[in-house]
Amino acid sequence: MNILILGGGGREHALAWATMQNPKCDRLIVAPGNAGIAAIAECADLPIEDGAVLAQFAVDNAIDLVIVGPEAPLVAGVADELRAAGVLCFGPSAAAAQLEASKTFTKQVCDAAKVPTAGWVRVTDAAAARAHLDRTGAPTVIKADGLAAGKGVVVAMTRAEADTAVADMFGGAFGGAGAEVVIEEFMTGEEASFFVLCDGEVALPIGTAQDHKRIGEADTGPNTGGMGAYSPAPILTDALQAQVMERIIRPTLAEMLRRGTPYQGVLYAGLMIEDGTARLVEYNARFGDPECQALMLRLGAQAFDLIHAAAEGRLAEARVDWADDHAMTVVLAARGYPGAYGKGDPIGGLDALPEDSFHMMFHAGTKTVDGRVTAQGGRVLNATARGATLAEARTRAYALAEAVVWPGGHYRRDIGWRALGAVSD
Ligand code: ATP
Repeated sequence: MNILILGGGGREHALAWATMQNPKCDRLIVAPGNAGIAAIAECADLPIEDGAVLAQFAVDNAIDLVIVGPEAPLVAGVADELRAAGVLCFGPSAAAAQLEASKTFTKQVCDAAKVPTAGWVRVTDAAAARAHLDRTGAPTVIKADGLAAGKGVVVAMTRAEADTAVADMFGGAFGGAGAEVVIEEFMTGEEASFFVLCDGEVALPIGTAQDHKRIGEADTGPNTGGMGAYSPAPILTDALQAQVMERIIRPTLAEMLRRGTPYQGVLYAGLMIEDGTARLVEYNARFGDPECQALMLRLGAQAFDLIHAAAEGRLAEARVDWADDHAMTVVLAARGYPGAYGKGDPIGGLDALPEDSFHMMFHAGTKTVDGRVTAQGGRVLNATARGATLAEARTRAYALAEAVVWPGGHYRRDIGWRALGAVSD
């Protein structure tokens, strides 16, 4: 098969790696890709949010399947345009991707499907927001409705913080994304991520994970795109996963089908777990990055078969061949990230790393310049490893990270602390 993957981060390198392991793959093109992806696949400079250009490219290159990595092309309707041109695509329609793009939409679906989630109201002006806060007080959560690159959510522990967030959002801090604001009940508990592949009707769980969003050790400092992740998430026991499928995932998919917008692709449920009960925090319409890197190393070549089956509506007959293993990803970021950081540093030590089904250095913001891999982004590398235990996966992932020669980079040393603590207690 000829396959096109859209995106150029660690997530897409992991998807490309799993795809290349599968004998069904004859040719793999990734747009735009990165230095790591270029070592295993062809890279193409394509406008990944322009469905018409992508559809023409897919037809011209006899592409059998397009796998969409990030959310922006999905929300822009790329999957719709590809399908309209007769090209098989893994990823939801723009209408179904509203589960990620609009918090109001998701809450309405949850209410209709009786999915457990935080209580909420939608407000369209600051006075209404303040009137609501007068009744409910703090702590509370204030969210800009649209996509705001993870920055449109304020967990306000005090009324003053809530008032500032409301003023910022209606003051245009998030542009169009702040024209509507959702105010939510504050939920307590432990967060975990649950990933299912969906073919419109059937959902197949493909793994659980937990990530570390903060830049600093002990989960301190500003939020980032994610500094590390591990899979599975110990808190998501088999019983809890069955509960999530029954109370959250299946009712959501049934409601999407009922609305005439069936969901096909990966559905990533962000969950809050307390006292053996899971509630939905949010949906994403794509794999998490860096969670995907850990999931792909665990699934290996079968990930491609499962993705293919989802795109073709064949998930009812698909099965995951589970290994009793653990994986961890440690993100190497440029010093300064998530604030201002330098670009262009050469990165050494990469050629000597072991890269096999237990260890992979997935690239994110890298580019080869004059024959050398250089850092070109905030999150640059993902040291990913698998083992029989999480502790073994961690030892291997950190050995990979330590072997990288990049004085301008840094990484957290405590990825997995919560799960490792729970295991050793
Ligand atoms: P992301 O970039 O993770 O996709 P997002 O902008 O879509 O984020 P959410 O996932 O809805 O926003 O919220 C971000 C974080 O805020 C959550 O991971 C959680 O830690 C916290 N959060 C969101 N809603 C609530 C809530 N109702 N109660 C407590 N914490 C919450």
